[in-house]
Amino acid sequence: MKLPQTGGCQCGMLRYEITETPRLIYTCHCTDCQRITSSAFSMAFVVTSEAFRLTGAEPRHLQRTTDTGRVATRWVCPECGSWICAAPRSGSAMRTVRAGTLDDTSWLQPTVHFWTRSAQPWVVLPEGGQRFETQPADLRKH
Ligand SMILES: [Zn+2]
Ligand SMILES: [Zn+2]
Repeated sequence: MKLPQTGGCQCGMLRYEITETPRLIYTCHCTDCQRITSSAFSMAFVVTSEAFRLTGAEPRHLQRTTDTGRVATRWVCPECGSWICAAPRSGSAMRTVRAGTLDDTSWLQPTVHFWTRSAQPWVVLPEGGQRFETQPADLRKH
């Protein structure tokens, strides 16, 4: 995998680049992710804030309240609505980016799996990864 890696929304207006190897690549099987993505799980990676840079349009900010009562903000393309990443959390030096928005997703290998208790029954997780029934508080999602 070479750096920087680029990515963006479906219509191409919102673009970004990352300049470091992700610290974490994970899948999330929570029911929020299943609903938002209309899929079985979501996939995301975590990089430091300094390693993430928007290079296209300004995202639209969508807020929602999570199961734990926290307000989470998603950055989406104002034109096509693609979910690109989470807003930077106050006090956090990390950014969580939706992995499927990378231009090249071939090198992505999730090693951590969150919210396996609500995983679809047919999902088979790869051997060797870390699995969590829910999500440890120090590994925050979205
Ligand atoms: Zn777009
Ligand atoms: Zn989730």
